[in-house]
Amino acid sequence: MGSFFRVTPNFESPKIPKNPCLFSCNSAKLTLLFQGVARYNLSMYLLDLWKQILTLVSREIPKNRLLTFFARTAIIELTDGVLKIGAPKPTTKAEIETKYQAIVLKCAQEVNPEIQEIHMEIDGTLMDPEDTRAINITHIVSDKKVRKTRNQPEVKIQKSNGNGHTLVSHILDPRYTLDNFVVGKDNRLAHAACVAVSQKPGADYNPLFIYGGVGLGKTHLLQATGNEILSNYPEAAVVYMTAERFMNEYVAAIKKFQITELRNRYRNIDCLAIDDIQFIADKDRTQEFFFHIFNDLRDARKQLIISSDRPPKELAGIEDRLKSRFESGMVVEVYFPDFETRLAILQNKCQEKNVILASDILEFLAMNVHNSVRELEGFVTQVIADMTLNHVNPTMRSVAEMMKRQNGGAKVVGVSEEEMKKITSARHPNDIIHLVAQYYRIPTEKLVGPSRRKEVLLPRQMSMFLIYELLNYSFDTIGDFFQGRNHTTVLHAYHKMKELVSRDQKIASDTLTIKREMGL
Ligand code: ADP
Ligand code: MG
Repeated sequence: MGSFFRVTPNFESPKIPKNPCLFSCNSAKLTLLFQGVARYNLSMYLLDLWKQILTLVSREIPKNRLLTFFARTAIIELTDGVLKIGAPKPTTKAEIETKYQAIVLKCAQEVNPEIQEIHMEIDGTLMDPEDTRAINITHIVSDKKVRKTRNQPEVKIQKSNGNGHTLVSHILDPRYTLDNFVVGKDNRLAHAACVAVSQKPGADYNPLFIYGGVGLGKTHLLQATGNEILSNYPEAAVVYMTAERFMNEYVAAIKKFQITELRNRYRNIDCLAIDDIQFIADKDRTQEFFFHIFNDLRDARKQLIISSDRPPKELAGIEDRLKSRFESGMVVEVYFPDFETRLAILQNKCQEKNVILASDILEFLAMNVHNSVRELEGFVTQVIADMTLNHVNPTMRSVAEMMKRQNGGAKVVGVSEEEMKKITSARHPNDIIHLVAQYYRIPTEKLVGPSRRKEVLLPRQMSMFLIYELLNYSFDTIGDFFQGRNHTTVLHAYHKMKELVSRDQKIASDTLTIKREMGL
C-alpha cells in the first residue's frame, strides 16, 4: 500500500497540513485523481475548507450579511493557488466580489497560506437543495453546530503511490463503535460477525449480510465495523456508503463517461460497506454495476458488508445472481432487543448524555417501546429535554403522558389505569402523602412516622406544606394525618418549606414536579 497521510480539517485550529498534491493539482494524473477517483473525498474536503474559511469570515462581517450573501456558495475548485468560488446567483457573485473578496482572501490565506487568488463564478446548480457542494450557512452562524463537528476525522485521503494505485477512504461516523453497541441475545450473532470481520477483513465472513427492521442497529454495525477495521488496519481503505449514494455516484459517472475510473476506484477499496441495499431494487443498471464491483472485490479477497431491511431471498426486484452472492457468505439478522438489552441501551444513553434517570423510569421506557431502538433513543432524549427545559424531574406519570402523546394515545404498560387515575386526582391528604413518599422513594409509613432523619423530614414537611397549600386544611387537622402531630410542628414545616421553595432550586423543582403529578 502506498504512502499515506491524513487530512483532518479541524474547526479548533483551522490549519490544514500543506501538501503540494492537495493544493496544486497541476499534473494531469492528479487532476484525474481528484476529479475521478477521489471525487467524493475531494468534495468533502472542499466543503470543509469552505466551512473553515467562512467560520473566520463570520467573525469579520455581520451575521445577517453572511447569511444573505454566502448561502449556498461553494468552493468549486482549488488549483495552483487559485480558489474558485461558486455563487448561486449573479447578484451574490457581484456582492461578494465587490464587498467581501478581500476578507475572504485574507481568511482563506489564514487557513491555507498557499491560496493566492480568488475567482468568482456563477453556478446555478448550487441553488438545487440536492447539490451537496453548497454550504449550509446556518451551520457557520451557529457556533454550537460548528463546534460539534470539530476534532472529528472528517476526511481521510490516501496518497497515490505513483503507479496509479490510489486512495480511498470515506467518512465514518466515529460515534458508532462496536464497543458502544449493546449486545444481547437478539443481536449477539450479528455483533460477533462484525467483530470477526473487523479482525480479519476479507477472510471468513465475506460478504457479511446484515438484515433487520428499521432502527435496529444495522447502520450502527456497518459504521462501527468500518471504524474498527480502520483502527486495526490504519492503512486500509474503508468505504461506507448508502446504496442510494452508490447509485448516485454511478449515475454521475455515466454522465461523465467515467465508468472505468469509478470501477477502478472501487477496486482499490479494502472494505466496502453498503447500507440499505434494498434501495437498488429495480435499478437494473446499478445492480449490474454493483455485481461487477462485488465480484472484483470478492475475487481480490476484499471485505464486503451489506445491510438490508430483509433477507436476500426476499429482496424483490434484485437480480437472482446478486441474491445468491449475498447468501454466499454470512447472513445474520438483527432483531428487536429484549427487555434487558433495551434497559442496558438506555443506561448507556444516559451515561453518554451525563444524566441519571431513576431506574423505574428507565424500566418503564424499556417496557413501553416495541418497535425500534431508534424510538427508544427518541424517548430518552425527549425525557432529558423535558427535564432540562422545564426544570422538572421526570416521573412515571410525566413519562407515561409523554409516551401517550407520542404514541397517539396507545396504551402504556407499567402503570395501571387506576394508578394513573389515582395520581391525577390527588385530592385527599393521604393521596398527597402517598405521592410525596413515592416521589422521594420512601415508604409512606416512614413519612408519617416518628423518624427525624433528614431524608424523611424534608418529605414530611413537603407533604404538610402541600396539603395546606392545595387542600387548605387547618394546621391542626393536618397534624392528625401525621400521627397526631401538634399544629405548631405543621406551622413550622409550612414556613420552612415556603422559604425553601423560594430560594432552593431543587426544592422548587420538586414541588413543581409533585404538583404536576397531581395534574396541577
Ligand atoms: P438501522 O440502520 O437498523 O435502521 P441504526 O443503526 O440507525 O438502525 O440504529 C438506530 C439507533 O439505535 C442508532 O442511534 C444506534 O446507535 C442505536 N442502536 C441500535 N441498536 C443498538 C445497540 N444494540 N446498542 C446501542 N445502540 C443501538
Ligand atoms: Mg440504517
